[in-house]
Amino acid sequence: MKAGFYHSTKHLTEEQLHAASAECVICGSRELKRLSDLQKNPSVFLLRCETCSCISASRLPTQAALNAYYATYYDHEVFETAEEAVTFHDIESFAKRISKVVEPYLNGRTLNILDFGGGSGALSKRFCKLHANKGKKTELDLVDYSLARRSYDLQGIAVSEYATIEDLLKNLNNEKSKYDLVLASAVLEHLPNPTEALRQLSRLLRKGGVLYIRTPTVYPIMHTLSKVNVSVDFTFPAHIHDMGEEFWRYYFTELAPHSMRVIVSRPSPVETSFRGSFFRTLAAHVLKFPWRLLGKHYTLVGGWEVFARKSQD
Ligand SMILES: [Zn+2]
Repeated sequence: MKAGFYHSTKHLTEEQLHAASAECVICGSRELKRLSDLQKNPSVFLLRCETCSCISASRLPTQAALNAYYATYYDHEVFETAEEAVTFHDIESFAKRISKVVEPYLNGRTLNILDFGGGSGALSKRFCKLHANKGKKTELDLVDYSLARRSYDLQGIAVSEYATIEDLLKNLNNEKSKYDLVLASAVLEHLPNPTEALRQLSRLLRKGGVLYIRTPTVYPIMHTLSKVNVSVDFTFPAHIHDMGEEFWRYYFTELAPHSMRVIVSRPSPVETSFRGSFFRTLAAHVLKFPWRLLGKHYTLVGGWEVFARKSQD
């Protein structure tokens, strides 16, 4: 799924919402703190789990409501044009940034990449192109609701597309843990059950392979700006969970499969470029910078990224 700024908030009706749960959908804790409203009649608000630090909508959209939402979303003409501009203005830099971290672990003769929820794969295709000239056999599997089953060759990269993880699993047969790199960039926040997806993605990695995660953490910015009467759209029901530094620390300490170890955890890169959108880009850099000095005490970073590696044993 694509970047947040093309989503917009939609008011959901009673029938489009699951009942509220008294427990955190991520960790099961009952220590939930009410934050700001997302909509009224029926009321949906943000809840912060005091145990895992995930911030989630108090009522989750039903699958039917999400299907209807994304059906109109994919009709949007933006989706058909300039795919590389959609997520990141500078997708080349983003691919290189990921490559810099994972390159030491891509030591086999083949390169198997899974891009989960990355639309038609602008980021992962660029990543593969960075590595394709190193003489490796490169296979890229894309899983996204917007895709239908097909395979093709892209300048020597064998690309296969699937709509769901289940479709992919049917096709993998006996090599279920084969991926050197699994990308989950700007997708987990859209899923009612992101921890189940994380378990599946971790299983699909080979030993020594790397999982890349990028999620928004916009509530701290929303909260700060609300004090000066500036409202920031959470883009519910596309955006259901806000997952920042504290959440990912808790997840990989307490909830993740034991084989997964964090190698890098830091604010995500700025999505826009100075060339494409000067003031937005400047503001994003200014907001992210203090984290370098203040670390976890500073939360106005807007997005988070984690690289976690599956242990060799
Ligand atoms: Zn929790």
